[in-house]
Amino acid sequence: MRELPYKLQAKIVANRPKHLFERLHEHLHEHDVDARLSGDSLFVDLPAVSGILRLMDGGIEVDIAASDLESLYFAKVWLQDAVAEDPAPGTIRIVWSEDCLQRHLPPSFSVLTVDDIVDITPRIRRIRFRAADARSFETLDDLHLRILFNFEELAEQHASRRSRLEPSPPDVAPIWRAYTVRSVEPEDHIIAVDFVLHSAEGPGSRWAMRARRGDVVGAAGPSGGGYSDAAWYLLAGDETALPAISRILESLDERATATVMIEVGSPTDTIFFTSKAAVETRWLYRDDHDGDCRGGLARAIASMEFPDASRKRFAWIASERGTAKAVRATLRDRGFTKEEQSVAAYWHDLRQVSAI
Ligand SMILES: Cc1cc2nc3c(=O)[nH]c(=O)nc-3n(C[C@H](O)[C@H](O)[C@H](O)COP(=O)(O)OP(=O)(O)OC[C@H]3O[C@@H](n4cnc5c(N)ncnc54)[C@H](O)[C@@H]3O)c2cc1C
Repeated sequence: MRELPYKLQAKIVANRPKHLFERLHEHLHEHDVDARLSGDSLFVDLPAVSGILRLMDGGIEVDIAASDLESLYFAKVWLQDAVAEDPAPGTIRIVWSEDCLQRHLPPSFSVLTVDDIVDITPRIRRIRFRAADARSFETLDDLHLRILFNFEELAEQHASRRSRLEPSPPDVAPIWRAYTVRSVEPEDHIIAVDFVLHSAEGPGSRWAMRARRGDVVGAAGPSGGGYSDAAWYLLAGDETALPAISRILESLDERATATVMIEVGSPTDTIFFTSKAAVETRWLYRDDHDGDCRGGLARAIASMEFPDASRKRFAWIASERGTAKAVRATLRDRGFTKEEQSVAAYWHDLRQVSAI
């Protein structure tokens, strides 16, 4: 494990630790995190986080080190979510060490208040938030933010613990989801986020469906990286990628060329892009395939002609996890280097059927 300044230990107490250990390994793999298995230990090495999970009697011991408190905080959230998402039978609880992470919120935390709401397509709702530090989200190096949907509930829990007047309520796990900063109006302290209204099943989508002016959420960021300078771009994805693709297109100049390929439900889900670059856009409709969203975008990208590496090229793709995996394989086959691509899994189709 790398020596990094901020550290955290935990023990996951479980009746079937081996089962849980294997699920966590799988989970890391599905998130495209390189995890090296050696005996009963799993080593994780990311730019800002290094960690070991050790299979023990009665549970799993976890050591995490990070280069900064923000990364440590979200490594902790990742572990909580991973254990909750794949509850192996018999998982009991995570016991955290007393450590440097005494905070309930990440260092970059801020509060966002809903200012106005407008539907830009039947499935995409733009919510403009008032944010005291809107200007900090104005960077193209980090296009994303994380939103904490149950901030008010967490704040209440924290307040009641501090008052010590009532017995401690059960722990509330923070509900964070990743989104893209669609635009920033620094003078007016506003940032906009486009929410895909996919179903009331997900806390993020449900919150956006019910949002009213004055509602409050928490936020952390900006984070998540940006894109690289190139002469030719492939920008591709589904509805969740539209905010980032729109923002990237708006930032390109007239010397750039971009092929944009987006998969949405139907023609009512399309939007207009603004760019100085020469842009060729192709929309793919799931409704043409009875709503089956699996494989269309990946196949369309696989059948594309790419410029050769003599032209500075960059492929930016964000989509469902199965599509992202298939696109990564295509780009590898076509000789794209790591520096020439950013392929991200933005969500995971939990129906887990894949025709790719
Ligand atoms: C860096 C980054 C940036 C992102 N930017 C945006 C953005 O700007 N706008 C945006 O809307 N999303 C964006 N996403 C995707 C968003 O984080 C996920 O869709 C997330 O799962 C939504 O959370 P939820 O609480 O609504 O659903 P979850 O609780 O995560 O999932 C509940 C159920 O909904 C399904 N589901 C989740 N997302 C979708 C979807 N998009 N379509 C269909 N089914 C879905 C899941 O398979 C699951 O069955 C981004 C993701 C990343 C990693």
